[in-house]
Amino acid sequence: MNDETTLENACKFAKANSLKLNIIATGSNIILPKILSGLTLKIDILGIKYGPRKNIVSVGAGENWHALVLDTINHNLSGLENLSLIPGSAGAAPIQNIGAYGVEFSNFFLSLRAIDVITGQWVTFSKSECKFGYRDSMFRNSNRYIITSVTLELDSEFNPIVSYPGVKKALASKNIRSPTALDISDVICQIRESKLPNPKELPNVGSFFKNPIISTSKYMDLKNQFIDVPYWDESNGMVKISAGALLDKLNCKGLSEGNIKVSKLHSLVLVNHGKAVDQDVLALVSKLQALVKQKCNIQLNVEPIFLSPK
Ligand SMILES: Cc1cc2nc3c(=O)[nH]c(=O)nc-3n(C[C@H](O)[C@H](O)[C@H](O)COP(=O)(O)OP(=O)(O)OC[C@H]3O[C@@H](n4cnc5c(N)ncnc54)[C@H](O)[C@@H]3O)c2cc1C
Repeated sequence: MNDETTLENACKFAKANSLKLNIIATGSNIILPKILSGLTLKIDILGIKYGPRKNIVSVGAGENWHALVLDTINHNLSGLENLSLIPGSAGAAPIQNIGAYGVEFSNFFLSLRAIDVITGQWVTFSKSECKFGYRDSMFRNSNRYIITSVTLELDSEFNPIVSYPGVKKALASKNIRSPTALDISDVICQIRESKLPNPKELPNVGSFFKNPIISTSKYMDLKNQFIDVPYWDESNGMVKISAGALLDKLNCKGLSEGNIKVSKLHSLVLVNHGKAVDQDVLALVSKLQALVKQKCNIQLNVEPIFLSPK
């Protein structure tokens, strides 16, 4: 689908024929069932427009996310550099409020345009209406809206976020004391390439579990069990802990079910070594969740989206 009129007609067709609508963009965060019923649409609407102010950018849902990040940097705008090299499209970014290295998509979000597949009307959502959370938004568990464009308000003045130790270390190793947005983008690309398996070579959907948010006292209990993992302060006496480090401590690297395996590079990534199906993925997910529950009394929640067959 590369324009709104064709999309609108496809939605009318699906409604008239009682077909379930499935939306796929780049497919980097979905697990497909063996058979997907209904009408499946791929959103390819393109275009990047700057204005009415210099720091406002509106982007078609089908634009590649990383290409957008680089384009904004070329326009002397900053904010998105920490989100460099996240696979996928601009239109999917709001769905789980993509985030990395201390920055979330919602930090720069202004509005989005979507079609309501129930009423057939075009709607615009403001930031508060999207209900963004940690890897979450009101769109995540709803098939009601198809996003065609997003509008972001970026920083005209550079405000580097280099709080992550890996980013600090990489900049220091290159002797960069006052990094530009492009410097940060470059080191983040290098870090990501070194620690995440390339989905084009080894199919994967990135981090499989969200980082759990637990009470500080529970975190101290874990530490007393010698399960010492990195954490980030949240509000109200809670901390977010690294799910990857937790799985690492429990020696999960290399665990497998059928052709699905926990990556040797990163414990949070499950890779498909053959023709694994969604049931293999679910079996390994259950195994990992049960292990973490039993050893740490923590519930791991899945990050990618399983498309339902019906
Ligand atoms: C190696 C790797 C690393 C990753 N790293 C990160 C990371 O650091 N941070 C992070 O947050 N995510 C990360 N991800 C996950 C993924 O990149 C994001 O979720 C991305 O936004 C998915 O984009 P996509 O275009 O592939 O969406 P898809 O996977 O095609 O779709 C994802 C969901 O969005 C829905 N959707 C897509 N487009 C639209 C639209 N236009 N309107 C309505 N619904 C739509 C789909 O129906 C589906 O439910 C990673 C994935 C991989 C493979």
